[in-house]
Amino acid sequence: MSPDLLLQPMTLRTIAHSDISEFSRKNLTSSAATVQFTLIHGLFNLYSIMNFTRLFCKLLLNTARPQTLCTRIQTIRLKSTLPHLSSVMMSTNLRILVDMDGVLADFEGHFLKRYQEKYPREPYINVADRHGFYLNEQYAKIKPELKDLVFSVYEEAGFFLDLPPIAGALETVKELDNMNDIDVFICTSPVQKYTHCVTEKFQWIDKYLGNDFVTRMVLTRDKTVVSGDLLIDDKPNITGAEKNPSWEHILFTTPPNSRIQSNPSPRRLNGWHDRDSLNRIIESKRKEKFVKIIECQN
Ligand SMILES: [Mg+2]
Repeated sequence: MSPDLLLQPMTLRTIAHSDISEFSRKNLTSSAATVQFTLIHGLFNLYSIMNFTRLFCKLLLNTARPQTLCTRIQTIRLKSTLPHLSSVMMSTNLRILVDMDGVLADFEGHFLKRYQEKYPREPYINVADRHGFYLNEQYAKIKPELKDLVFSVYEEAGFFLDLPPIAGALETVKELDNMNDIDVFICTSPVQKYTHCVTEKFQWIDKYLGNDFVTRMVLTRDKTVVSGDLLIDDKPNITGAEKNPSWEHILFTTPPNSRIQSNPSPRRLNGWHDRDSLNRIIESKRKEKFVKIIECQN
């Protein structure tokens, strides 16, 4: 890795953990004073950019001789600091949180199919006629006892595991995750009777996206406390303990939320085929993040 690379703020997000480890190993074992200085200089820039531990930077800058520099580095256990440093740099990546039900998996369509199989004599609501986020509320308006029938369908074993993927979801999520500056996490809320739901959500992600994504699953009833840049979710109003979540909510359009207006209204993604909107959203978020990095630097 060229020393100059460390001086360029915009290249930070492209520096992989392995690069840093390799770079530090080579330089810490070298006796060349110039190489040691390069390492110090590079580290100063990294810490400065992230507005991180300015005292540490001053300590390094005020040190006169390269040999002393090396000693001080070892004293403060630089090697153990480097993995942390790389994790700071990785946080410059765009973190996209993706909901499961209604965004990756076709909850509404699968519910209707199972409901009709289970209760063929009961009234039902076509997906296109669904409105409002909660199924049970709309069914209860037909007759109150349907509310419990709704619960009985999606609390049954196998319901969540058998959900079919939404068109384009898997391909797009993998594509996003393969980009150098984007990390995708799955962020999903289990139903309150979670006996089957929780396990099956993990199995579903493993089956369709692979084990690597299983390690990046966040199951929570409160998504406001999860950190990210974007949250792609079909729930119109996402509230919780954190009044100012770090993410921007992107409303994934589905029939139940297509007519819902909220204030302020979130930006929408009208399906995974809506690549123009997705690209626009990501690009605007990249610029926003870059401005934040520059502000930190200053
Ligand atoms: Mg959802």
